[in-house]
Amino acid sequence: MEIQKQSKQQQQEEFALASVTELASSSTSSSRSDSQSAPVIARFSAGNGVAVLRFNRDSESTDSISVDVKTAQLSKLGPLQSVCIAEASGADTGKEKYSTGVTVQFRNEEESRAFHCAFEQWKKKDIVQGTLLPNGAVTSFKSKFEDKIEPSSAKMYFHYYGQLLHQQNMMQDYVRTGTYYAAVMENRVDFIDRVVVDVGAGSGILSLFAAQAGAKHVYAVEASEMAEYARKLIAGNPSLGERITVIKGKVEEVELPEKADILISEPMGTLLVNERMLESYVIARDRFLVPNGKMFPAVGRIHMAPFSDEYLFVEIANKALFWQQHKYFGVDLTPLYGSAFGGYFSQPVVDAFDPRLLVAPTISHDLDFTEIKEEDLYEIEIPLKFVASVGTRVHGLACWFDVLFNGSTVQRWLTTAPGAPTTHWYQLRCVLSQPLYVMAGQEITGQLRMVAHNAQSYTIYLTLSAKMWGPGAEQGGILQTSSCKLDLKEPYYRMSQPQAYAMAQDQQPHQPIHTQDIHIHAADDLEGPELIQPPPQNLDGQL
Ligand code: SAH
Repeated sequence: MEIQKQSKQQQQEEFALASVTELASSSTSSSRSDSQSAPVIARFSAGNGVAVLRFNRDSESTDSISVDVKTAQLSKLGPLQSVCIAEASGADTGKEKYSTGVTVQFRNEEESRAFHCAFEQWKKKDIVQGTLLPNGAVTSFKSKFEDKIEPSSAKMYFHYYGQLLHQQNMMQDYVRTGTYYAAVMENRVDFIDRVVVDVGAGSGILSLFAAQAGAKHVYAVEASEMAEYARKLIAGNPSLGERITVIKGKVEEVELPEKADILISEPMGTLLVNERMLESYVIARDRFLVPNGKMFPAVGRIHMAPFSDEYLFVEIANKALFWQQHKYFGVDLTPLYGSAFGGYFSQPVVDAFDPRLLVAPTISHDLDFTEIKEEDLYEIEIPLKFVASVGTRVHGLACWFDVLFNGSTVQRWLTTAPGAPTTHWYQLRCVLSQPLYVMAGQEITGQLRMVAHNAQSYTIYLTLSAKMWGPGAEQGGILQTSSCKLDLKEPYYRMSQPQAYAMAQDQQPHQPIHTQDIHIHAADDLEGPELIQPPPQNLDGQL
């Protein structure tokens, strides 16, 4: 329905209408019975902190009716007809105030709904951008998103998601998209005749799945320019599209005409929490979901285990060797060696690794999206306690995550575990610049602390300690401790590197650790329907 792209700054939004009719007006010059039944363009625009709605007979026409969205009211007269009442411009010059009214005729119900949604967004936008009060003061209301996220970070973030190639990349992760599809279709009962909100709809693919599963109506909320493509995709699938409304804006800021019975979203970043979109998911829950409504997914589970990977360690350490040169074009580079070394070890490594590199059974930490408070995601502290399965050098902590679709018919997990079919999230490893030596059976303790920052990511603080082992251990304290600080926003993507881990490495072959054991177990405690286990791992195969 929206016929023209919003400009980059979202200063303008246009809708095609069947017709508009101006009601009796205070000023005879603006009376326009001639405009009846002519197709009209309604254009929202922002100027001087005020949102204006202008009805034109075509884009170029100067013959128009304007209303101040802030003071205007839009009411439905019928499924295809609404009336917009506003203060007439110039009405405050005389003693009496007058109103101007415009009857709007829509081409179909879907367009009526979208126009009403846009009207509410623009009413709000006026306040968000700062409104000039009569005394000249400027009020500014910042949304939760704007409060905590650096504008330059948000700009780059939404620019990235505004590009089809990145949406395609996610859609082509068939483990991801296929698991969402299966989870929705197997749990049709949760969607049939329900109102759904798709939180961060991107291309609109999950909204289309929800409509396929029989949703009564889906509100697809998307903040980036991708919203326009989503409209196009949805319009091209009319049997589903008639039950989907795309709303361009942040879930923290948009208004929806009704509450949702179920939220669907794919808010997971690297290590689950990167991008800080889980917070938007939780805010959407509090703003839009009916009490006890469903969330797809409902739970996120972070898995962690210590690993040993001599190759990786040497590779990272060697990157800094460049700065060991004393005569680089006659310049001594060594003053920066320490900083370069520290810099390389502050990057979490993202790749798919062989689960045989894990040296202790995994532990996990759950985030229940249905319960968690948004503020609980600002700082996440996970105590660590492992028992080494082998004697080895521990080079750091390996992490990955699963999410649970807790459907009424089927519970399904989407897993990003090492050894399971690889997803575009891969796995993440925090590498210590000082490895720890452990014996089989030795306890490894520590903490993983993640602190959110305003560039939509986290600073990670990892500490691992290996307790004294053997005679005298009871009296002994901690033998070795190693810590590191990493920025989750600056990962080292290692996918282009050869993934040949196997026996080539100078380390003992480990007993394979079954990374899925723990969460399958834990999933058993969840009451309810049939549990679909994650696909079996190919622990022996090359990744
Ligand atoms: N649901 C789609 C896209 C997932 S990627 C799919 O599964 O393929 C996450 C999307 O959420 C991105 O398109 C991003 O622009 C959008 N997004 C992130 N934070 C948002 C917010 N606060 N409000 C609205 N959209 C948001």
